[in-house]
Amino acid sequence: MGERLGFIGLGAMGGPMVRRLIEHGHSVLVHDLDSKAVAKAVEHGAEQASSPKAVADAVEIVLVSLPTPDVVKAVALGENGVCQGGAVKTFVDLSTTGPRVAVEVAEGLRARGIQPVDSPVSGGIAGAEKGTLAVMVSCETAVWERLRPILEIIGRNAFHVGEEAGQGQTMKLINNLLSATAMAASCEAFVLGAKAGLDPDKMVDVINAGSGANTAVRDKFPKAVLTRTFDFGFRTELMYKDVRLCLEEAEALGVPMWVANSVKQWWSYAYARGGKTEDFTSLMRYVEEPVGIEVRSRKNAPPE
Ligand code: NAD
Repeated sequence: MGERLGFIGLGAMGGPMVRRLIEHGHSVLVHDLDSKAVAKAVEHGAEQASSPKAVADAVEIVLVSLPTPDVVKAVALGENGVCQGGAVKTFVDLSTTGPRVAVEVAEGLRARGIQPVDSPVSGGIAGAEKGTLAVMVSCETAVWERLRPILEIIGRNAFHVGEEAGQGQTMKLINNLLSATAMAASCEAFVLGAKAGLDPDKMVDVINAGSGANTAVRDKFPKAVLTRTFDFGFRTELMYKDVRLCLEEAEALGVPMWVANSVKQWWSYAYARGGKTEDFTSLMRYVEEPVGIEVRSRKNAPPE
């Protein structure tokens, strides 16, 4: 049976999630600072609210998909935030914020009698569109059972990874560290191959059939790197944030991470060069630059 849900943050991920919830029979009250994003959700059948508090005054379950830990904190606990709403009972955070902020937000919400749920996701815009995301949930088991049918609309691979606030976030940071590592290492490997005269399209085929297979070469290179479109749908800013948060956690827990620290240098450099707007697949351009070549598909290339 359809429920009335709240949803805050209608960006690359939140927009398609809301559309799917509506298509599965739920009614959704939305809020975002970007009026275009709100208008698109309304076109799909959502109702709009003027603030996070207004959403939380009207519904028991509020989901959010917001860019950074600071924004999540402000939307959850700030002035006119979700915690001030009169109806809300459960706050589901689908963003990547890191475990420390998840714990802080959870404490603030619990003090107001609201159940916090960590629920970061992985699988990109394509996963959000198709509902195939991996969802990493930590919350009390009874709350997980209550939310499961809703979360499985967002991602058919929903996992209850723990009961404690922050555990879903830690799982997500570990996942994204591996994704960030695959991207950085694959860029270096392809620049080497191209410099040695190998055909990048053939390299993709070989690696995908071999033991070097990874998500960067499988998904990102054919779609957005070899085509030189650099538009996979996840910003360098967000990838850099995730790697940083992961290393902060490693530091806090006393876990040495040599490889991850090297990987972070690439993302820090790409962020410094590309600013806030570039897609993370643009990393390739900065790996190519000192070598003076381009890792470009030869398919449909004009004859020399
Ligand atoms: P996005 O920047 O496209 O969307 C964020 C949305 O939040 C925007 O519409 C923005 O207007 C809105 N927003 C910002 N501040 C706000 C505020 N104070 N109040 C209300 N709305 C506000 O980001 P995204 O790519 O959709 O990512 C959202 C979260 O999901 C991030 O934490 C990201 O790390 C995570 N994530 C993204 C991807 C991806 O592939 N894009 C994959 C997995 C996880």
